[in-house]
Amino acid sequence: MPKKYVYFFSKEKTDGTRDLKDLLGGKGANLAEMCNLGLPIPPGFTLSSEVCELFYENDNQCPSEVVREVDENLRELEKTNGKKLGDPDDPLLVSVRSGAAISMPGMMDTVLNLGLNDQSVKGLARQSRDARFATDSYRRFIQMFGDVVLGIPHGKFEEILDYVKTEADIRFDVDLSVDQLRNIIERYKKLIREETGDHFPQDPQDQLWKSIHAVFGSWNNERAIKYRQMNKIEGLRGTAVNIQTMVFGNLGKDSGTGVTFSRNPSTGENRYYGEYLINAQGEDVVAGIRDPKDIAELEKDNPVIYRELLHYKKILEEHYKDMQDMEFTIQRGTLYFLQTRTGKRTAPAAIKIAIDMLEEGLINREEAVMRVAPDQLDQLLHPAIDPDQEYSVLARGLPASPGAAVGRIVFSAQAAEQQAGKGEQVILVRKETSPEDIGGMDAAQGILTSTGGMTSHAAVVARGMGKCCVVGCQQMVIRDSSHCEISGKTYREGDYLTLDGTKGEVIDGQLKLKTPEISDDFQKFIHIINETKDMGVRTNADTPKDSAVARKFGAEGIGLCRTEHMFFEGDRIDAVREMILSADTRGREKALAKILPMQVEDFEGIFKAMDGLPVTIRLLDPPLHEFLPHQDSEIEELARTMHVDPRRLQEKVNSLKELNPMLGHRGCRLAITYPEIARMQTRAIIEAALKAQNEGIRVFPEIMIPLTGTETEFNYLKKIIEEEIQGIFDRGKTDIEYKIGTMIEIPRACLVADRIAAAAEFFSFGTNDLTQMTFGYSRDDAGVFLPDYISKGILPRDPFQVLDTEGVGKLVKIALEKGRGQNPHLKVGICGEHGGEPASVEFCYQAGMDYVSCSPYRVPIAKLAAAQARIKKQR
Ligand code: PEP
Ligand code: MG
Repeated sequence: MPKKYVYFFSKEKTDGTRDLKDLLGGKGANLAEMCNLGLPIPPGFTLSSEVCELFYENDNQCPSEVVREVDENLRELEKTNGKKLGDPDDPLLVSVRSGAAISMPGMMDTVLNLGLNDQSVKGLARQSRDARFATDSYRRFIQMFGDVVLGIPHGKFEEILDYVKTEADIRFDVDLSVDQLRNIIERYKKLIREETGDHFPQDPQDQLWKSIHAVFGSWNNERAIKYRQMNKIEGLRGTAVNIQTMVFGNLGKDSGTGVTFSRNPSTGENRYYGEYLINAQGEDVVAGIRDPKDIAELEKDNPVIYRELLHYKKILEEHYKDMQDMEFTIQRGTLYFLQTRTGKRTAPAAIKIAIDMLEEGLINREEAVMRVAPDQLDQLLHPAIDPDQEYSVLARGLPASPGAAVGRIVFSAQAAEQQAGKGEQVILVRKETSPEDIGGMDAAQGILTSTGGMTSHAAVVARGMGKCCVVGCQQMVIRDSSHCEISGKTYREGDYLTLDGTKGEVIDGQLKLKTPEISDDFQKFIHIINETKDMGVRTNADTPKDSAVARKFGAEGIGLCRTEHMFFEGDRIDAVREMILSADTRGREKALAKILPMQVEDFEGIFKAMDGLPVTIRLLDPPLHEFLPHQDSEIEELARTMHVDPRRLQEKVNSLKELNPMLGHRGCRLAITYPEIARMQTRAIIEAALKAQNEGIRVFPEIMIPLTGTETEFNYLKKIIEEEIQGIFDRGKTDIEYKIGTMIEIPRACLVADRIAAAAEFFSFGTNDLTQMTFGYSRDDAGVFLPDYISKGILPRDPFQVLDTEGVGKLVKIALEKGRGQNPHLKVGICGEHGGEPASVEFCYQAGMDYVSCSPYRVPIAKLAAAQARIKKQR
């Protein structure tokens, strides 16, 4: 069969179906499908996306076989309509529109009313018995053609229009008379002569081909390229071009136009929703000259058409089995559909529609699970800026932790705690945060930092707390402890800011927020997800409180408890500092003995919150200097309270300073130098587990060694941990089941994973550090250059946000293969920030991990991503 490039659609004859979306684009495929379903569609034809490819290969021309097919289809179209393009008495008018397989709203070009010229405009005036309508249609055509095809800036046409309106003292286009419109047309034509040195083309064939070429050309205009880059639209051939008979909604009171949705896209309610305007064209709705009416009112305005609309929307929804977004035009009492597509919807609507359609029997459970985008769930779990208010964005940073927050600025964690103690809502504004800020972060509504990336301290901790956070806001400079500048404007302590952590936006002043509601449908949806997924979803939680929150969100255990965060709670920090400042092992042991009961209490609370579920507790990871103050005044203050010589303290602080702390004395290296820390923590874990067990709690402790790079490190520490545990068992004549495993976050560990797995019972991929070390990008500083990398296409996305499957992912796979090859029972999970990011969760599923672990508020998102990953694999 010869190749086909052009596809006809009409009531009588349609070549395409919705399955040809790749070739016909979304618009063309759905027009064909609607014709097949018997809906009233203005007939036309579609040049496939293959033609777009040929157009570029052929020096921006269509090959002769395409020209021939277009001619044939145009003849067919003329026959169907009983009108000829360019006929001076009764012209056929067409639209020329782009339409790719993936919708790119507003990115490419459209030409309407094609076929009008100085002669046919008169024919149209006679046929329509409306000279004003005909003349205005001609004016619009010249303007669009001039802009889209001839490349004359749109503003130049607008200037002429405004000039004539001002001269005539007219406000709205609709009030222009026929003569005034003719005046505008003459001026437009003159502009075209001046700009191009040529006349506005009168030959409709010429108009048509120039328009087709312009629409194909628009596939590669700057804004379309940028849009595809931003939305990661890859692998498309190009755009299709739809040539369709024009219908007009502005031919009097029995005409009109509207956009409707088969269900409410904002709430999901199963009620016909949308707007229409009588005697108007689509553009008038967009231009906002007149207020459109609620579609329900059409029942009174035109009950016949209203019933028709209801009838067809039902057909469409039942056919597509999803909520439809439909455009229609009524031309002198006859209804036409111009478009249908899957409607965009809010998160609550997505959930409601999925559950309703499941209960209506329209879709099955798997389909319902696939209907909600995991990231959308964020909207349901956090407060958001109330959309019913106008505001402008003051500055942008990285969207580190979703939700919205409003409060008065404070510049220190201490001030945050003080102000919050007085009932004030505060936003903690800092260059960056460090572990000692934890109390202030907890007290604040939201956190804003000028530096740092998606895995910086502020980002990780805020996500764990479910607290709105924007990091790396480069338009902000902190001047001193009482004021900062954001986008050149000065802000002082006490001024109001609003943050949108979902978008990474900083807004001046105090906006209204909306708290999310957990609906019955959401509960049902979560239930279905739980039954669908077969990979575990744990949480990263450091305190009994966070653990309880995570459990409410459905966490199936703890995948990472970062013990260091507890060291800042209450009096613990004093004992920790005493331990660090001790001169010898005995001194350290004395200080650690003070921490022990507190740690036992922490872990006991966590075991209780996670009754019956595994709890992975990591031994101390950060370098010790993080627990000491750094400013002179703070050091002096601490020396006073600890009754030590400030100079000695200063010396100790200096001695702990490292040029590269992230690659320094941290993780298992600390425990190797100071085994007493690992012993104390092990003891705390096991004693807490025993205590909880005695109270009837089912405990599954997993002790995790951080930053392992060699099996010797692991084996050395495992022995110490086991000795400590055995000691407890022997003393108490008890026993308990436990596991010892390791983080895998150093590239070397991946490459020797078989050796490590010989002794380790589990692996947990720390992909924050693994990404840092694989790329060699500091996770705290990469925020400075990563935006350039992404905008210049060096990297497709931030690897700290979305797992780099090619590089880091490859190491993960090697480690998994080697680890499981050595120990088939090896339990494997991920606890880096990627564990809550949907695409990365899918990767982990495919790689064969047992679980992912993420911050409490991301648990439902990770669960949905896990369920979808399973469905995709089965399909
Ligand atoms: C990691 O490196 O991925 C990890 C979970 O550990 P942390 O973020 O605490 O370094
Ligand atoms: Mg780490």
